[in-house]
Amino acid sequence: MSDEGARAFAAAFKYLGVDAHPSPDGDERTYEIAGRFTSGDECLPERVTIGDFLKVTEQPGFDPAKTAFFMPTASGPCRFGQYSPFLSQVLRELGYDDILIVCPTSADGYSSLGEYSGPMMRLGWWGLIGSDAIRKMLHVYRPYETKRGAADEACERSLGIFCEALADPSVPIGAKKLSQLAGALETGRDLFRAIPVDFSRETRLIGIVGEIFCRLSTFSNEDLIRRLETFGVQAWLSDIGEWVWYTNVEQEKNLRLYGRGFSLEMLKVKIKKRVQHSHEERLLAPLRDEFIGLEEPHDIMEVLERSQPYLPYHGSLGEMVLSVGKAVYLYEKGADGIIDISPFTCMNGVICESIYPRVSRDCEGIPIRTFYFDGTQTDLENDLGIFMELVHNYSRRKTKRRARRRGSCRRAAAHSAA
Ligand code: SF4
Repeated sequence: MSDEGARAFAAAFKYLGVDAHPSPDGDERTYEIAGRFTSGDECLPERVTIGDFLKVTEQPGFDPAKTAFFMPTASGPCRFGQYSPFLSQVLRELGYDDILIVCPTSADGYSSLGEYSGPMMRLGWWGLIGSDAIRKMLHVYRPYETKRGAADEACERSLGIFCEALADPSVPIGAKKLSQLAGALETGRDLFRAIPVDFSRETRLIGIVGEIFCRLSTFSNEDLIRRLETFGVQAWLSDIGEWVWYTNVEQEKNLRLYGRGFSLEMLKVKIKKRVQHSHEERLLAPLRDEFIGLEEPHDIMEVLERSQPYLPYHGSLGEMVLSVGKAVYLYEKGADGIIDISPFTCMNGVICESIYPRVSRDCEGIPIRTFYFDGTQTDLENDLGIFMELVHNYSRRKTKRRARRRGSCRRAAAHSAA
């Protein structure tokens, strides 16, 4: 979950009457406390989530009988499925047997959420769309701000307005709630539009792919995007929404595999997908101009088909398929380079890294570099500097040009005239 997504999910729970909060921000204490229970073989996201959850137990007024941790799970070959059982084990060791772990999974239709599962599916989806969009606006505006901190401030305020609307129980879940949320995003958009910017600044567009948690957690990836921006970069970070689209495709694929291609379940999946699409369009309508040239694929199949020559999605599973396919998609949209953010020893990252040289060769030699994170200090600036040299070289000879947003052209022209 991204920082923004966690806040939106907490707001969705608040709508349902649950006093929910994102886990505390990561810091040194996160690794210190996690280090007591982990051996170093675990993935970085596991250490960060365990550490941050345990920090909750240190907060003043903490009452285990009134606490539940929200930790979704999934089946599959990677270690994510172990996070939740491991958290239970650690809590048991600490004597917190009564802390409930809410552990929804797509495999059981999120039934562990009980009566909340239906409303949470909708509120959670809207929360993800909104929080993804607000973070994307931050990445669109921050490289061009002329008043330092203005874009972060606009992001913070926009997210606050959006989460307040999401948590507002006076508006029922339905068309009215969607309009309320679209209105909140429009207000957020105007906050971004009001910040002083210089869109005539030259930037390089860098696409960011990789493991979901690490690429979205600024603490885990040492705020890589902010560091990149100091090199004159505009980042295009792959959002969480793409994972939801991907799980829909997987659901359909599995139903076909088990001979249920024409079944009520399949119909439900197709209807769900249609509804999700229409809600996404409704929510993002006010932001269309902000994302010109940065359009997400209309259908996740556009990503999966681009991955096909390297990692056929019928056989390979998970983020690696999305990262490779998205790298090709970003190249076609005119990116000047691709960065894959992955936790150290992440099997998705390792597999992708072995494939990227071929992807790069097929895409005019676009620089693609994997950055691994393990929670220890690295000489990131130096590595980013070398990567940016490659980016500048590629940028001079590339044939795929990125489309520019209309607003930026107008503002850039006005700026030049001034
Ligand atoms: S995707 Fe990578 S980091 Fe995440 S749980 Fe799986 S192996 Fe670990």
